[in-house]
Amino acid sequence: MADMQNSNVEIMLKDIGMVYKTNDGHDVTALTGVSLDIQKGEFISLLGPSGCGKTTLLRIIADLLQPTSGEISIAGESPRDARLSKKYGIVFQSPVLYDWRTVKKNIMLPLEIMHIPKAEREDRAMKMLDIVGLTEFANHYPNQLSGGMQQRVGIARALAIQPQILLMDEPFSALDEFTKEKLHEDLLRIWAKTNKTIIFVTHNIQEAVFLSSRICVLSPHPGRLSAVIDVDLPRPRTMDIKDTPEFTAYVAKVRNSCEGI
Ligand code: ADP
Ligand code: MG
Repeated sequence: MADMQNSNVEIMLKDIGMVYKTNDGHDVTALTGVSLDIQKGEFISLLGPSGCGKTTLLRIIADLLQPTSGEISIAGESPRDARLSKKYGIVFQSPVLYDWRTVKKNIMLPLEIMHIPKAEREDRAMKMLDIVGLTEFANHYPNQLSGGMQQRVGIARALAIQPQILLMDEPFSALDEFTKEKLHEDLLRIWAKTNKTIIFVTHNIQEAVFLSSRICVLSPHPGRLSAVIDVDLPRPRTMDIKDTPEFTAYVAKVRNSCEGI
């Protein structure tokens, strides 16, 4: 049984620590003793206040940063190998689209870099545009789209490389509430459809409860994992769930675990 569970572990973090050296020679301990096993297909939120090390942890998983201590493996391989074999799709707070390329061509850009043939690039881009609901905007330019639509393009671009793991760093925090709620539902639909493992960074408790199968609460000074909470709300989740006593109870539970942080 233990073996079966192990075989589903996609991301293994063991006693991860990160100490930054600042320009003036000081050490900043951003993370200490972070251990966590993430199963394939989970929706994990990293939740905590600004400065608790969420981005640092995400960057370590993505192989954009080497931890100063601890071990990490991605489906049994190193983060570097996982990155080189395109296991990661990354979505940042701002999607960073090229204004002179159409929406479709923005999505195709990483596929060009991967030398994927043109017909397949087109095909994947159109499929991803369909998934994020932007088919009619394929030939528009980014500055013709709203912030929410641009963020959808960022998600489509990350998905187009067919990553097994989607890493998202506060992807909706710059958006208005209405757009955000719509994108929450869309993201859950995409997750259900594509069976990705998602790691979602946020400082918003409601957002974490609505989306996640598990919430990892980080606390600062130094950043560490202070609680892990399973969210067993039924799926598919739609906005109405936010009015239920069960949802409110989870929000209270997570808030309590953040108390004193
Ligand atoms: P979060 O994403 O939760 O806001 P970060 O991971 O960005 O937190 O930062 C965690 C801590 O590490 C903070 O104290 C931050 O100031 C520090 N930090 C982040 N990046 C660097 C860096 N390149 N050099 C020095 N300190 C850093
Ligand atoms: Mg951050």
